[in-house]
Amino acid sequence: MSLPTRRLSVASIIGHVRVGGDAPIVVQSMTNTDTADIDGTVAQVLALARAGSELVRITVNEKEAAAAVPHIREALDRAGCTVPLIGDFHFNGHRLLKDEPACAEALAKLRINPGNVGRGSKRDTQFAEMIEVACRYKKPVRIGVNWGSLDQDLVTRMMDENALRPDPVDVMDVVREATVVSALTSAKRAEELGLGRDQIVLSAKVSGVQDLISIYRSLAARCDYPLHLGLTEAGMGSKGIVASSAAMAVLLQEGIGDTIRISLTPEPGGDRTREVIVAQELLQTMGLRAFTPMVTSCPGCGRTTSTYFQELAERIQRHIRERMPTWRGTHDGVENMTVAVMGCVVNGPGESKHASIGISLPGTGERPVAPVYEDGEKTVTLKGDHIAEEFQELVEAYILRRYPRRAE
Ligand code: SF4
Repeated sequence: MSLPTRRLSVASIIGHVRVGGDAPIVVQSMTNTDTADIDGTVAQVLALARAGSELVRITVNEKEAAAAVPHIREALDRAGCTVPLIGDFHFNGHRLLKDEPACAEALAKLRINPGNVGRGSKRDTQFAEMIEVACRYKKPVRIGVNWGSLDQDLVTRMMDENALRPDPVDVMDVVREATVVSALTSAKRAEELGLGRDQIVLSAKVSGVQDLISIYRSLAARCDYPLHLGLTEAGMGSKGIVASSAAMAVLLQEGIGDTIRISLTPEPGGDRTREVIVAQELLQTMGLRAFTPMVTSCPGCGRTTSTYFQELAERIQRHIRERMPTWRGTHDGVENMTVAVMGCVVNGPGESKHASIGISLPGTGERPVAPVYEDGEKTVTLKGDHIAEEFQELVEAYILRRYPRRAE
């Protein structure tokens, strides 16, 4: 199986994380806590990092939030969490960074939205002030354009130029081009102000799948900065997951994208770490990275006798997710393991043989036994009332045997 050839970008170092070049595609996420709430933000960053987020962005929208950032960093360090923090600035970022220098120092990267740094004559000076802070503290910057806050002066100018052309293009083509131009001209300006070429990451997020694909293809063809991929305002639940995956899979398959975020709207009170898991699953199912053992399970059909096999698949998946933070540090390669949980004899044994370890549960009318396969060979047949517990123990034993504990 051949994997897509990655587009060659300049590598950027964010904290201890390398983004771009030949580095693995990095998963990032963003908190939705009030950053001024230090305890709440620390708890959510810890949860996101524990789920596997390799960079975490926090909003820095007011003085209290900026003042909280160094305390958040200190609390994370005390908890042994080294995940780099990215500060998300809009409108007043130039002032916050000037008034709270410890905030800039504590952050590993600044995200600047060129559409939200100020209007008219203030835009260039306020953008310059933020870049100067980044240069002073040697912090990389993501120039993060967003369709919803596109530089209106630029759009108006490009619309006027288009209207004067003998063959004007579609208005939406002008908006897409303005999104790309905003990112590229802002990056060029940042370099002129002294920011290193290797300190710039670009993003240009939009909410339409085809728009995102078109814009990122254009960016990839016109620059070699690392690109941060994400469909903005992707939406809730399955719609957000499908839309993000559809757009990003096309780009990733073309080798475009150095870091990704899945911007899901959580259900009220929902788990913020879902966006991390979806991002990991996107990269892993495409064969681009491995994060955690994957569970293969059939959809079930009229041959499944009960919900038992769905419950077992869910239980095994949950167990693996809970144990993975520990296994990651102790058992090299465990993330490549595959587990099959199948509902009957039709495809059960075959799929189980393809997995590292698999179980085929009995379907309607089949003998109440569950053969287990390890590395393609049948090793044991489980029966009785404790099949789930026994299979979980077999998974644990398989890991210990196949991925020996790393020497201290
Ligand atoms: S493996 Fe069996 S239970 Fe599962 S979908 Fe196929 S036929 Fe149905």
